[in-house]
Amino acid sequence: VAEPSRHVDAVLARVARRSKDLLDFAAELVATPSPNPPGDERAVADVITRRARDLGLEPPEALADRPERPNLVFRLRGGAPGPSLMLTGHTDTKPVGPDARWTSDPLTPTIRDGRLYGLGSTDMKGAVAAMLFAFAALQPEAAHLSGDLLLVLTADEEMGSRFGAHYLADERLVRADAALVGEPCGITHEWEAIDVVGRGVTAFRVIVRGTQMHSSCSDILPSVNASVKLAEVLAGLESSLHLDHRPHPLCPQGITVNAGVTLGGGVTYGVYPGYACFGVDVRTLPGMSRARVARDLDSWLEGLRERDPRLQVDWEFAAPPIDWIEPTEIAADHPLVVATAAAAQRVLGRTPPLGAFPGATDATPLQHKLGIPCIAAFGPGLLPLAHGPDEYVPVESVVQAAGIYALTAMGYLGEKPSP
Ligand SMILES: [Zn+2]
Repeated sequence: VAEPSRHVDAVLARVARRSKDLLDFAAELVATPSPNPPGDERAVADVITRRARDLGLEPPEALADRPERPNLVFRLRGGAPGPSLMLTGHTDTKPVGPDARWTSDPLTPTIRDGRLYGLGSTDMKGAVAAMLFAFAALQPEAAHLSGDLLLVLTADEEMGSRFGAHYLADERLVRADAALVGEPCGITHEWEAIDVVGRGVTAFRVIVRGTQMHSSCSDILPSVNASVKLAEVLAGLESSLHLDHRPHPLCPQGITVNAGVTLGGGVTYGVYPGYACFGVDVRTLPGMSRARVARDLDSWLEGLRERDPRLQVDWEFAAPPIDWIEPTEIAADHPLVVATAAAAQRVLGRTPPLGAFPGATDATPLQHKLGIPCIAAFGPGLLPLAHGPDEYVPVESVVQAAGIYALTAMGYLGEKPSP
């Protein structure tokens, strides 16, 4: 990867000169609600389009399966052919939620102690703002680059990306040779890792059946209480369920099994419960398959039934897309990973180690439907702060992100060969 070094300083200077505007823009994005559900990214797309115009950019292409779910695509054509790069982030957020304990209003961006507080600040409006400013800083250098840069700002990531990255992939509306997703890559500190692995998800329901009857007679007649049986299965799940997987060197915690993320059963007082169920979500690793998980769940329940003949238990996958979200991985020596590491070294003065993003991202549809190798997450902020009260992103990290994204693109696209 050749770094067009004589242009790097100009780009970094442009980013630095606009850092106040960048933060204003990040705050403006936070102040423009895009909670999902219900899901409507029109207002936030308008704010981005307006800012792009102020930055002297061509208007983006708006691609939408439904008018209220726009995806924005900005394109920068290099002066020579070469591999193309996609920078991508989502414009929606989770809802604030009931009884959310925010110190300040979640939709009123507030800067305290060098941190921008507000809903979506770290997940991931700070990164989206940084990507647009990186793109704008590169525009005057386009003629010197080999290959094209795409900035893809997606809808609907927080609810499975059906109207976002899956739509773009299914309709073949974007293509690139590599992609970087700007999700927050910190768990305990900023810029913790370049996440070359993105864990996947599988989710399923366990259903227990019993004897529904008049509850006054439950000790007179033979009967099975579905809720009590469910409690036994749920409490024993951690020790009894084995899901086959290979350990991954970049993901020491392995897979994560969350039992009882949903829970239901019974009818009402007076009715002996004949039905109960709970949901499980599992964060998966590369190498696992839906079919193998299904076999493991079959044999798990087979074992439980053998030990307890009165137990009537079954399982089923959750409704798509959460039934199976494929994990992703990009090679550690992929040119995009090399370019990202070099850009981080230049801007941060250190190279973050390679790592694994614990959750699922838009990398899944991009990698598995379009064949684009993806860095699952490299962005400002801390993932544990997302989806909770007092979400923030450090102001400094947003500015660093703009520099890192611009230099990553320059490094990956490379300098146009001199005539
Ligand atoms: Zn996100």
